[in-house]
Amino acid sequence: MHDAENDAVPSIDTLRERYQAERDKRIRPDGMAQWRELKGEYEAFDRDPFADPNFTRDPITEEVTVIIVGGGFAGMLTAIDLAKHGITNFRIVEKAGDFGGTWYWNRYPGCMCDVESFVYLPLLEETGYMPTEHYASATEIFQYCQLLGRTFDLYDKALFQTDVTGAHFDEASSRWTVETSRGDTLTSQFVVLAGGILHKAKLPGIPGIETFKGNAFHTSRWDYRYTGGSATAPMEKLKGKRVAVIGTGATAVQVVPQVAKVADELYVFQRTPGAVGVRNQRPTDVEWFKSLQPGWQRERIINFTKAVTGGHPEVDLVNDGWTEFMWEDTQVQSSDETENERLERIDVELMETIRQRVADIIEDPDTAERMKPYWGKHCKRICFHDEYLPAFNRPNVHLVDTEGRGVDALTEHGVVANGVEYPVDLIIYASGFEVTTDLYRRLGFDPVGKGGVSLSERWSDGAHTLHGVMASGFPNMLLISIVQGGFGTNFSHLLSEASKHVASIVEACVDEGIQTIEPEPAAEDEWLNVLFTIGMGNGAYFQRCTPSFYNSEQQSIDMRSARNLTYTGSLLDYVGYLERWREDSTHPGTTTTA
Ligand code: NDP
Repeated sequence: MHDAENDAVPSIDTLRERYQAERDKRIRPDGMAQWRELKGEYEAFDRDPFADPNFTRDPITEEVTVIIVGGGFAGMLTAIDLAKHGITNFRIVEKAGDFGGTWYWNRYPGCMCDVESFVYLPLLEETGYMPTEHYASATEIFQYCQLLGRTFDLYDKALFQTDVTGAHFDEASSRWTVETSRGDTLTSQFVVLAGGILHKAKLPGIPGIETFKGNAFHTSRWDYRYTGGSATAPMEKLKGKRVAVIGTGATAVQVVPQVAKVADELYVFQRTPGAVGVRNQRPTDVEWFKSLQPGWQRERIINFTKAVTGGHPEVDLVNDGWTEFMWEDTQVQSSDETENERLERIDVELMETIRQRVADIIEDPDTAERMKPYWGKHCKRICFHDEYLPAFNRPNVHLVDTEGRGVDALTEHGVVANGVEYPVDLIIYASGFEVTTDLYRRLGFDPVGKGGVSLSERWSDGAHTLHGVMASGFPNMLLISIVQGGFGTNFSHLLSEASKHVASIVEACVDEGIQTIEPEPAAEDEWLNVLFTIGMGNGAYFQRCTPSFYNSEQQSIDMRSARNLTYTGSLLDYVGYLERWREDSTHPGTTTTA
């Protein structure tokens, strides 16, 4: 790959400069402050369009062993694990009207999981369920969550349409008390915070956002009453409508082709082009599925995670776009310059295939040029889809490229970008979720631990945890989040391991008569050192990245935000830390009371 050898293929030096230029034009002085929360004046955006608005029930007062906050995969898997070990005295408190978490909220047309269903859907061997396709639709995944709820008798344990409003630890009784929006008072020995990772939707803080008089919603609160249709049926009511989609991330990539089929005009407002690789969707081969031997799913899950974290398994069982793109971990920088160059070349060449795909599919050369992503493959999430790019060849679909600046403003009638007003009837915000903001902000309540100290006070200088799971000052509070925890392409792998760990801590305490457990601050500092040491390896790569939620919008990092990092190494290595900790029956690095 060199200019001199082939004029059509840019050299690494040229691309390096281009990446830097794209990054620089996308950097914003307001960083993370550019977003708006769905509360206060934007509260209406957070309304649940799927639940019964007239639902009521009497408040309950009860004591249980465990309160689980959140009924997505993390909460459900924790509950299932506890029940397997005979601990059935738990409550699940969930804001939504059913189980499913992400898959309850995200019902937008075209929604699906681009991680292979055989490694994404947990407990397939236990339920005997066969996913219908390689990449399951959101509808199928939501139904699978309901199946898990029924199979493992979780429905009786759940309080739906209920927000946790507060939680505090009473030192005298060693019990947590949890209050809810429905007037419940729940007490428990343990509280598991499994409130989600991508659950707090955000809006871009576009000037004039409140002045728009048409219809508008966030993708995670899709309003089918306005669009007509459903996740599986065409949205006839969009006929005759002009629609704006703001965003070109993983969600927009799935939404755009569906809206394009029906809307009269669709304007897609792009700030940074997404990277869209080949999807290759296909139905499940029933004979193959039937031939799988016991233990197949765990083997496949581990094999996939190995393949997407540079672990180079002997056989690539999933063998799809993810494993191709993530096979080589190109973020890690070493002192060996030749090796660094080799990794950079791999990264650039893979992204070049993405850019070439754009050129091959998009008919208008100017649109194609604008849709080519110029950033490293670990900087943002790669997407896999076969209908997104072709949608831009339709006469009713218009790319509005904002050259990294984003939408300028909203007016009563529409969207202003590059100084031009685009009148529209509907604005769809495909603007994503808060991921790296403070955990207590995303939880929606601020737990109060020992000495009446709240999590926001204790973490005023950033997070303090052991493995991202336990926090000093908050006995028996167990976290499933990415703050100082693991991260990975297959989120459900991470959630399965984290919930197994959390459930095993509860089980060990119950078995051994331990009243409280919390980490020692020294052990938390040691964990922080592990996180920093691992993070240092790819710091240089991330410095060069275009802003995104992966790098907190490239906002300058102080010690406080540095402490909120995730374990940036392989998820399998992170799981290794959890497993070694569990194998040591002394519960190292913690203080317990009997
Ligand atoms: P993202 O945060 O990835 O994307 C938000 C989009 O909104 C970006 O394109 C962003 O631009 C754009 N945007 C924000 N502000 C403005 C503005 N002022 N003007 C114009 N554009 C703006 O959110 P998504 O919902 O797409 O994805 C979030 C995550 O959800 C994914 O990373 C993934 O983890 C998960 N997901 C997974 C799927 C799966 O198949 N497994 C499918 C969908 C989502 P910019 O890029 O410049 O910031």
